[in-house]
Amino acid sequence: KTLIMSFCIAYIAIKWTTPSFDPESLKGARVLVTGASTGIGEQMAYHYARFGAKIVITARSEKVLQQVVERCLSLGAQKALYIAADMAIESEPDKVVDFALEKLGGLDYLVLNHIGPTPFSMWEGDVEHTRWLMKVNFFSYIQMAWKALPTLGQSKGSLIIISSVLGKMPGPFTAPYASTKFALNGFFGSLYHELAMKKSNVSVSICTLGLIDTESAMEKVRGVTDIPAYPASEAALNIIRTGATRQQELYYPWFTQIMSLSKDWFPAITNYAIQNTYNYSP
Ligand code: NDP
Repeated sequence: KTLIMSFCIAYIAIKWTTPSFDPESLKGARVLVTGASTGIGEQMAYHYARFGAKIVITARSEKVLQQVVERCLSLGAQKALYIAADMAIESEPDKVVDFALEKLGGLDYLVLNHIGPTPFSMWEGDVEHTRWLMKVNFFSYIQMAWKALPTLGQSKGSLIIISSVLGKMPGPFTAPYASTKFALNGFFGSLYHELAMKKSNVSVSICTLGLIDTESAMEKVRGVTDIPAYPASEAALNIIRTGATRQQELYYPWFTQIMSLSKDWFPAITNYAIQNTYNYSP
């Protein structure tokens, strides 16, 4: 009874303190979404388009970006443009931010979402791949954030970082990927405090996602685990709401927060559960 009461009180408190989302606030908003050619990034681009935002999207595949831009325009985006860029190349993150600033005349939302492809397998000592992945999944994020901070400060804008439950609670087969997500949580967690202490206008939202049904994720886990996957479009909408309401954190689906806490509260049970979630025989 006490446990149920505590959950109810926590639920009401969260509902009560969560600011309500006004879709109108995104009309004409200037948004840059990275990794928007597929998956959650693509879905975010479509939602922003439906809300009437002005969007710049980026990824490496120019042809796919072109198609996403066309769909954004047909869905109601006030503006939709793309720039192809490889985030492993040091000059590209700055180039993308400069392009967005020039074409949109400033920025209200910087949504950092892209990830480089990485194997879902035991780590076999490939340091070079991990180094490359850090460039794509981490260093380009901090470079773009730094470049965009002045303009976000002027517009009372938002920085939205897409992270993972694997950035809070590591699991097997994802050592390089999990390291990049832990790095993001550490860096942007620290930046959140610094901006608050400087009384900056910029909000920082870190989004912790569980398994989402994007093609690239499903390809990896098929036949390996039965963990339920949640819809990319709903994940995307939750991320957009979190940024628009300037909340510090999102956990989607909700139980990823419990999972993150359980690792510290009940480590032995959590470790057992994690290792038995995957089909593996040595
Ligand atoms: P996808 O694999 O569908 O999309 C990745 C995007 O990044 C694509 O647009 C891809 O386009 C782009 N990209 C890849 N390499 C580079 C590069 N070198 N430079 C620039 N862009 C690049 O990912 P998801 O939609 O599944 O994931 C989106 C976010 O959500 C990620 O941050 C991920 O960590 C997070 N997340 C996802 C989960 C899931 O289960 N799907 C779970 C937890 C978190 P292109 O290849 O054309 O460059």
